[in-house]
Amino acid sequence: MTATPVRLKYEVKDLALAPMGKQRIEWAGREMPVLAQIRDRFAKEQPFAGIKISACCHVTTETAHLAIALKAGGADAILIASNPLSTQDDVAASLVADYGIPVYAVKGEDNDTYHRHVQIALDHRPNIIIDDGCDVVATLVQQRKHQLPDLIGTTEETTTGIVRLRAMLRDGALTFPAINVNDAETKHFFDNRYGTGQSTLDGIIRATNILLAGKTIVVAGYGWCGKGTSMRARGMGANVIVTEINPVAAIEAVMDGFQVMPMDEAAKRGDIFVTVTGNKGVIRGEHFDSMKDGAIVCNSGHFDIEIDLEALKGRASEVKTVRTFTEEYKLKSGKSVIVLGEGRLVNLAAAEGHPSAVMDMSFANQAMGAEYLVKNKGKLEPGVYSIPVEADQEIARLKLQAMGFTIDALNADQIQYVNSWTSGT
Ligand code: NAD
Ligand code: SAH
Repeated sequence: MTATPVRLKYEVKDLALAPMGKQRIEWAGREMPVLAQIRDRFAKEQPFAGIKISACCHVTTETAHLAIALKAGGADAILIASNPLSTQDDVAASLVADYGIPVYAVKGEDNDTYHRHVQIALDHRPNIIIDDGCDVVATLVQQRKHQLPDLIGTTEETTTGIVRLRAMLRDGALTFPAINVNDAETKHFFDNRYGTGQSTLDGIIRATNILLAGKTIVVAGYGWCGKGTSMRARGMGANVIVTEINPVAAIEAVMDGFQVMPMDEAAKRGDIFVTVTGNKGVIRGEHFDSMKDGAIVCNSGHFDIEIDLEALKGRASEVKTVRTFTEEYKLKSGKSVIVLGEGRLVNLAAAEGHPSAVMDMSFANQAMGAEYLVKNKGKLEPGVYSIPVEADQEIARLKLQAMGFTIDALNADQIQYVNSWTSGT
């Protein structure tokens, strides 16, 4: 007789790492005052009593604070990684050992393990899914339709996940409400722009320790992440080239003072390439062929498909690790191309992702989005919903207050003026 495999209550690298994780989680908390206020309110109001939540996020010090807030609010919450390379093993250990939150995530897990953890998130039979990239939701809809009646709804963290949810809606596959956290102004204005801007350069620097001043950095995509990355690269003294497919975004890049050209041309000029498009095959075989010897390529956008690594492997005679998260592809042509973080998000693979101060607002939106779903259980039609403007404004107000800034308020005369149409020139 074969024994039924025992499902582990958690899967982390090493529980002995917990003390370091706890210390780092506490440090991150200093920069997350908005989420702390929400956590304290949740602790009193218990909005998630009796609610099962499966969260699929990067397992970082910042996500730890989200998980702790959900638990404080009464949730039966589990956490899995949203990327095979982004897990901070000490944080995963501390969440299990110090905070009693089941975590299934190990830095460097292979794809099979990643997808097995997605299945574990669904075995939890969640009422709420907090997703980052839509992998758990897409798996639920494709493989576990019978569990859909359990689901109140889902909240989605990132641009790519929203693109997938909208495609599901078009195909009639979205049969529940989904909260679009990414499009909250207090999310993408700060997280995608300043967070990605800083942490992408942090990832490049930690992986390579190279000087950015005087280098030519090619940024593919001038959306929120691209704007932040270009702005910060320029700040470090790099010459920035932008590639785009959207004429409006391209004009914006031109007027922001960047060079704009097709990747075919940029490929010849760049020292470092960063993809942030949310698309696939942005850097392809023909581009590797024309790059300088020793060009560095990395991705801070979408899974590991923005860079066509298969095409690169096909051209390589040897691949060797030259530093942590830094691989040199020696090409048959004699040149080398350096790939950071296996083409996965360089800011989370080689560094620690966005700083806590921006994740404070992103995860305040996640927490309030999940609460909104529970409060409105059974009342929302299937669809992709924005975070209510009032919640977005409240998060901004709390953040500003915590940062020690005050602003003006409209006076009665101004309110009357902005609501009238009769007085003109
Ligand atoms: P966005 O929609 O604002 O911008 C993407 C831009 O890329 C658009 O302007 C689009 O026209 C352009 N683009 C699309 N295909 C292109 C191509 N082939 N070549 C050049 N440009 C192209 O999206 P965003 O918010 O900037 O997010 C971009 C990606 O980054 C998404 O996959 C998102 O999920 C991810 N993201 C990553 C992080 C991180 O921590 N690394 C943070 C936020 C978002
Ligand atoms: N899961 C997919 C999709 C992109 S993830 C993937 O890994 O390829 C991009 C998201 O990561 C962003 O929207 C951002 O909010 C989140 N992120 C960035 N830094 C983070 C951090 N320190 N902790 C948790 N999430 C972070």
